[in-house]
Amino acid sequence: MLETTSSAAETEAVGERLARDLGPGDVVLVSGELGAGKTTLIRGAARALGVAEPITSPTFTIGHTYRGRVPVSHLDLYRLSELDQEDPALLEDYVTPEAVAFIEWPGAAEPWLERVTRRVEIRHAGGDEREIDL
Ligand code: ADP
Ligand code: MG
Repeated sequence: MLETTSSAAETEAVGERLARDLGPGDVVLVSGELGAGKTTLIRGAARALGVAEPITSPTFTIGHTYRGRVPVSHLDLYRLSELDQEDPALLEDYVTPEAVAFIEWPGAAEPWLERVTRRVEIRHAGGDEREIDL
């Protein structure tokens, strides 16, 4: 399914709708260039899953886990091009049977993920427009 949005709020709303189908153990890979709106979409999804805290991009760590109706993990593997050389167990704190996990720049993690529920790709489409492939 292809959606076009023209504001961050609209992309958050797409995330909210996506979250309706998600539950414990689900893993959502979110791809797209820098500034495409990956974190924005995840913010909407996390809110819909009951996360009250602000969702920020992980900087000094590969991820955060937030408390919602279920635990919600947000990983950003931008700097982790070769997880095979790191410890794949790094993921285990975030990708659990209890949590819903969202992974930005998932490439490094993909070979290690046992379950991928959904792949989302976001593309710049000029100005504030984004194309979201769900
Ligand atoms: P990423 O995580 O992909 O690097 P972010 O979600 O952090 O991207 O940032 C997207 C930026 O683009 C934000 O500053 C947001 O306000 C802006 N923006 C403008 N239009 C849109 C849109 N249609 N969807 C998502 N973000 C948008
Ligand atoms: Mg981001």
